[in-house]
Amino acid sequence: APTVGVFALQGDVREHLAALDRAGVDALPVRRPEELARCHALVLPGGESTTMGKLARIFDLFDPLAERIRGGMPTFGTCAGMIMLAEKIEDGTDGQETFGGLDIVVRRNAFGRQVDSFETELEFSGMDEPVHAVFIRAPWVESAGSGVEVLARVRGGEADGKIVAVRQRNIMATSFHPEMAGDDRVHRSFVEFIAQS
Ligand code: GLN
Repeated sequence: APTVGVFALQGDVREHLAALDRAGVDALPVRRPEELARCHALVLPGGESTTMGKLARIFDLFDPLAERIRGGMPTFGTCAGMIMLAEKIEDGTDGQETFGGLDIVVRRNAFGRQVDSFETELEFSGMDEPVHAVFIRAPWVESAGSGVEVLARVRGGEADGKIVAVRQRNIMATSFHPEMAGDDRVHRSFVEFIAQS
């Protein structure tokens, strides 16, 4: 089985490790470059993207990680993890850095204060049944380049049509938290994606 790392300096690491474990891969928390070097693929969890970037710098993980992502390592980001993969951020903090690799503009905290957090069912490309999606101060994809495949959009309400799941080359990202929904299908689709890469 492939070794799939979970960026573990910040965020909901345990939930991802558990979901990956259930999906049958060797899940490894990654805090140091040596651990990253052992991984075939990586998950960037939900959490707080500004802090993630800063801690990655402090622990000398930022550059090796950005290099691996750009070098084609299969990578899956959820929520703050999606932000970390975006080439460009709207409403980021001053000087906020991302690893990049995904040709999207992401808007942080996009759903606004009134609907800080919510749950909904989403049609998800390639899945027969809708995915239960948990959104927590979530970003959405403001715009996506032509090489980006849209996997899911919000339906209904003020955010109708907003893109919340995408894929490009070696990268998958969701605005929501599949690791919190007790439904491992999105993690399983990432594991298949790793096998195909
Ligand atoms: N709002 C957070 C950020 O900007 C992301 C929230 C999350 O990951 N649940 O980093």
